[in-house]
Amino acid sequence: MNASNPDLTYPFPEAPEFGTALEVAPGVYWLRMPLPMSLNHINLYLIEGNKGWTIVDTGIRGPETRDYWHTIFDTALGGKPVTQVLCTHMHPDHTGQAGFLTNHWHAPLLMSHGEYYQTRVMNVMMREGGNWQMSEYFERAGISQEFLQQLADTRSNFTPDEEDLPIPSSYIRLMDGDDVQIGGNTWKVIVGAGHSPEHVCLYCEKLNVILSGDQILPIITSNVSVHPTEPFGNPLKVWLDSHEKFKAALPDDVLVLPAHNEPFYGVQSRLQELIDHHEDRMLILEETCVEPQVAIDLLPLLFKRKLEGHSMFMGLGECVAHLHCLMSRRRIERTLQDNRYYYRSIDPTLTERATPGRHEEPDDAPIMI
Ligand SMILES: [Zn+2]
Repeated sequence: MNASNPDLTYPFPEAPEFGTALEVAPGVYWLRMPLPMSLNHINLYLIEGNKGWTIVDTGIRGPETRDYWHTIFDTALGGKPVTQVLCTHMHPDHTGQAGFLTNHWHAPLLMSHGEYYQTRVMNVMMREGGNWQMSEYFERAGISQEFLQQLADTRSNFTPDEEDLPIPSSYIRLMDGDDVQIGGNTWKVIVGAGHSPEHVCLYCEKLNVILSGDQILPIITSNVSVHPTEPFGNPLKVWLDSHEKFKAALPDDVLVLPAHNEPFYGVQSRLQELIDHHEDRMLILEETCVEPQVAIDLLPLLFKRKLEGHSMFMGLGECVAHLHCLMSRRRIERTLQDNRYYYRSIDPTLTERATPGRHEEPDDAPIMI
């Protein structure tokens, strides 16, 4: 996707250094913490309350981020404690330090029901090996058993360390439409889905600010994947539905505080751009599936760079998500032959509609979270 949408503006040219905080709205501070791989960083936020601070998202596990948190405690809190920790969603860069932070401050964890329990399950699943359901899912998408074994032999960057504190054993549940009061302001919970099951965003109408997590990002695209744990899922449908929901809920001049890249204005344009992006990808797949195709062979149409290892799996999950959305719209159908799923377009006139040059590869990559 074009990374320079001219409708988007970025009001803060200098991002805060790791271990420092930058005020981006009255009482709302932007922090960055390091991440491995090309992701580079995650944005976290502090909201000042009357009696203490609310932390929004925590950074990844491990001593490096923990040390930066100690620096923040010493320099950015003005002598006030942290009174609550909120995680927008389950992914390890958002929840990795939740155990440490809640334990250090004896502060409660606020999450949605789906994200809290998914985090607890993920912590167990990361320690598990493969299973036949996983093998079947990948084999039917066209991945060889040899490749699966190679991948099983490598450790994920997000694999937990034994010394890390786990996700807290209790939480306060956030639901769509809830109000969270912080420092005299009301923050409305708006829940999205598709990237994760029940992603919490916080919108303050008075400040005209939304903390959007990974639900709305300005440049990179959030990963929307079918996973082996839910091989018949349709996450792209709920992702697109969520974009329509946020379009209806947000004014165009809201300041978006995302979990990656920079805070920005231009939310309506960005949401529409993302909808168009996924619709375009689906059309590319539909046109290509005039001849029956296996999912793995479709990846070069969707990703410009060569995908390897875990990023290949993320890309494959995205590809299957687009195929499942097309199936739910009855635009393609699927048959099982030799333990491979073959996807074929249903519309017999499709070859006449196909636009020359449309199959140009988009220049973005999946986000590795
Ligand atoms: Zn995420």
